[in-house]
Amino acid sequence: MLFAECTASFEEADIVILGVPFDRTSSFRVGSRFAPNKIREESYNFEDYLFDYDISLSDCNVHDMGNLDESGTEEDMADKLFSKVSTILKNGKFPIAMGGEHSITSPIIRAFKAQKRTRGLGVITIDAHLDFRDSYLNNRMSHACVTRRISEFLGVARIIPIGIRSICKEEHDDAEKLGLNYFTAFEVHRYGIERILRRAMRLLDCEKVYLSLDIDGIDPAYAPGTGTPEPYGLNPLEVRKLINMLEGRLAGFDVVEVCPPYDNGNTSALAARLMTEVIAVIASP
Ligand code: MN
Ligand code: MN
Repeated sequence: MLFAECTASFEEADIVILGVPFDRTSSFRVGSRFAPNKIREESYNFEDYLFDYDISLSDCNVHDMGNLDESGTEEDMADKLFSKVSTILKNGKFPIAMGGEHSITSPIIRAFKAQKRTRGLGVITIDAHLDFRDSYLNNRMSHACVTRRISEFLGVARIIPIGIRSICKEEHDDAEKLGLNYFTAFEVHRYGIERILRRAMRLLDCEKVYLSLDIDGIDPAYAPGTGTPEPYGLNPLEVRKLINMLEGRLAGFDVVEVCPPYDNGNTSALAARLMTEVIAVIASP
């Protein structure tokens, strides 16, 4: 099954969707490997015509590549994902990845680097968690370490998590020591997402932004189907606003940590809807 209306061939596509059904390092509730297909299924709930953009998804030239073959070790997954995303970038297309867990974002950004696409590129993550541990359960590729890994090869000043409300002591001290900028969910509630994004963009000082949406950044009331739910989250309209504000500056997008076994369907539907939001923003003239 393809994401709704995403029937363009790879050659004719401007945007390419890739599913990454990987959840091997998940620490609490596993099952995000089921998310890519579930999100595709939910995508058929929505109208092809996006009235607020006056654009139809079927006119947006999107190709759905299907899912990454998930066999082998974690390193095999990272290598395969790196090479797929490299192919997408080499051909000048905009990548959208559906996790799977958050660890998939690191090989994606490495592909941007290998394609010399990281000059002027910043990374914004929406997340309840800082994901800044050096290692977790003896695993440096854990989803709890993705901000740390990306900061090591991109530069710590080039990645900013937003929506944070869970930080362990070690992460707190390392963030201070290494100079990681981040914005808590409480700051978003207090100042509004527009001001927070403007501050983040000033700090990043980048023309282009890769946006990584860990669905647990959104409040569990809206997105209950996730591996590590945290109260006090963002609401979907704030994330939609952020996507809209990044119009003309987005370089790539992923949505991760949707966990269908813990969902009533609404979390996958929300992920699908936010993907169509990104597609509309990229495809709008
Ligand atoms: Mn995360
Ligand atoms: Mn998280």
